[in-house]
Amino acid sequence: MHRSAAPDIALLAVDILREVLSHQRRLRDGGCAGTVCRHCVRHHLEAVRAAVEAGRRIEFVLPAFPVKSPNPAKVSGPLPDMAEELALRFLDALCERIGAVHAPGAVIRICSDGRVFNDLLGVSDENVTAYARGLDATIGRIGARHLEQFTLDDVHPGVGHEDMRALLTDGHAPTLEELRAEVRGGGAPLAMYRGITRFMLEDLSGPQWTGTRSALQRKCRDLAYRVIQRSRAWGDLLGELFPTALRLSIHPQPCSTEKIGILLADTPDAWLTPWHGVAVETGGRFTLMKRAEAERAGARPVLADGRTSHYVLEPAANAPVASPARACA
Ligand SMILES: [Zn+2]
Repeated sequence: MHRSAAPDIALLAVDILREVLSHQRRLRDGGCAGTVCRHCVRHHLEAVRAAVEAGRRIEFVLPAFPVKSPNPAKVSGPLPDMAEELALRFLDALCERIGAVHAPGAVIRICSDGRVFNDLLGVSDENVTAYARGLDATIGRIGARHLEQFTLDDVHPGVGHEDMRALLTDGHAPTLEELRAEVRGGGAPLAMYRGITRFMLEDLSGPQWTGTRSALQRKCRDLAYRVIQRSRAWGDLLGELFPTALRLSIHPQPCSTEKIGILLADTPDAWLTPWHGVAVETGGRFTLMKRAEAERAGARPVLADGRTSHYVLEPAANAPVASPARACA
């Protein structure tokens, strides 16, 4: 081996991590510093270095793209649309750039977690299946060569959906008491709990809810714990199945921890996730908005294959209203 091979491998690993961490989604006061956080580079360096040295492609696992929100004020329908397409293109391009410096390339395994907790959101298993198929179709249509999908259905082929959720929870979930203790400790668990509770409130507070506001809040807080419990079980299982993969998360993460929080677009204001909003083209660029906000602002729907793909908002009409909503799940 050439004398300088070892430092070259380390430098290459740093380059790869810089690509990823330049799109890092950070926890406020989470300890990260600089445009690319050197502490996080150091924390993940060995895993990337080992892959580079072995000539392996860099593998990422990203639990995300569960299912469209059931709230019609936020999305256009149950199937993936331009909002998902833009995020998938962004993730594929990230892998493409890694491939430019590391010939074996990179893959992001999108571990769609819709099947893991759709029953808690009041979303049917049929909608989860249709959404996952739609994601596969989008990945194929846009020619995203570095993205793969992996779902709970792949873990338990032929098993009923209720049963596969029970197998996951029994084998991998922390208890609700353990989670409550973590959330009481503050930091990232508390931020995630608050974010998910807020989304549950938005998704369930439509006209179908006939009880009091405080009863709905209680229900959403309880459901948030169960969503986190299932997500944690899914993450634990993925860690077992893909032990050498780097773990990505759509949630902001503290510095130098197991997971790297990642944005799903190259703009730092891209807080809303594709499955909680619609893509709006305005002034030559896309942003994500809640459907009702886009329509209030005067955005027009654009159809593809007989359904809404995205919206177009004339920049003049855009000025007073189109600040992208901040969100965290
Ligand atoms: Zn950091």
